Amino acid sequence: MKFNTKLLHEGVRREREFGATLSPIYQSSAFDQPSAEDLEKIFSGKSGGYCYTRVGNPTVTEFENRITKLEGGAVSTACASGLAAISNALLNILKTGDEIISAAGLYGGTIDLFEEFEAFGIKTVWVDANDIETVRSKITENTRVIFAETIGNPKLDVTDIDALSALAHENGIPLIIDNTVATPFIVRPIEHGADIVVNSSSKYINGSANSISGVITDAGKFKWDIERYPNLAPYKKFGPFAYTSKLKNGLWRNTGACLAPQNAFLNMIGLETLGIRMERHSNNALELARFLDSYEGITVNYPGLKSSPWHDIAAGLNDKYFGGIVTVRVGSKENAFKLINSLKIAYKLSNIGDTKTLVVHPSSTVAAHSTDKQKEEAGVFEDLVRISVGIEDIEDLKEDFEKALAEIGFTRS
Ligand SMILES: *Cc1c(COP(=O)(O)O)cnc(C)c1O
Repeated sequence: MKFNTKLLHEGVRREREFGATLSPIYQSSAFDQPSAEDLEKIFSGKSGGYCYTRVGNPTVTEFENRITKLEGGAVSTACASGLAAISNALLNILKTGDEIISAAGLYGGTIDLFEEFEAFGIKTVWVDANDIETVRSKITENTRVIFAETIGNPKLDVTDIDALSALAHENGIPLIIDNTVATPFIVRPIEHGADIVVNSSSKYINGSANSISGVITDAGKFKWDIERYPNLAPYKKFGPFAYTSKLKNGLWRNTGACLAPQNAFLNMIGLETLGIRMERHSNNALELARFLDSYEGITVNYPGLKSSPWHDIAAGLNDKYFGGIVTVRVGSKENAFKLINSLKIAYKLSNIGDTKTLVVHPSSTVAAHSTDKQKEEAGVFEDLVRISVGIEDIEDLKEDFEKALAEIGFTRS
């Protein structure tokens, strides 16, 4: 099956009571079993089945299975948010004294999270993840994971996942990729060597900004060395599945990071149109990026433009679609605020991946907790505006930007 068909048919449970075409929402905290013996078997993992929604829920399982198919992984774990997914994905294998090597151009919330880890003795070394020789030089005996985003939010740098995963594997280290901005429609990181993929499904996967959620997809291929990853020791017998077995039977269930069944249901509805939405988001973003690029005094960053330093890497991953996020530098914070305030169609808020166009000033919002150095490395400037381009008619979007820019005094060259 090709991608759009998969979205509708793979991982979907079809044998439904009454012939409903959508799976019911199992809005139940706990599940009744025929006998104490059955319950014992479920608790010991000797048989499948459900007991308590924090540990598993049929609606959530279906969502997980559908994401597994899309990312081309072996198994997925759904979480209450993208950050719950990222924290679980990492803490599942890390302990005090370990080091993360991470791309510097990360989502601000993830940078803040990695700083929280410092209180537990887990250090992050920030790098340009495409500078393979520097990344190599930063690997120490304590490095336990390499982390990057497919398309950085909001830096819009694109990771050469093939090169980074090759380096990670040479050193016996797994690569975890945050695929939120690209989505599996544009890039499937596992096909390029990633071991674990995380998505904030709050964004494009849900698609209509109606629920917060995240998901961890395990490729099931990494050879876990139990001496280096002692957290996984009790799950050694599961081989390549040691990681997800630990997650589901350990950290994830014990941190209570589960996804609500109602939100899994809403995600599955949104998911079905991911392909056509991403096509539209990407085409609109490319056209808007080209339009804004024709202005004097505005610097446009979009992986689909040849002027992007990451265009070639992006085109190597997908030469047709480059995602829905565009950033512009407009000369000053004052201009950035004026542009945001003058737009009529765009919503002014800190989110991406909605059907509607959204604009934000990252420096004073999502990256507000970062230091100046972190902001610089993450491509967050005082005059930067991030645009999450929606699926409106592009003529209306261009007109909205044209009018707003005219008000500030920008002209096309
Ligand atoms: C939004 C976002 C997250 C965090 O996801 P939440 O669902 O808000 O917790 C992580 N990574 C990226 C790239 C994001 O855009």
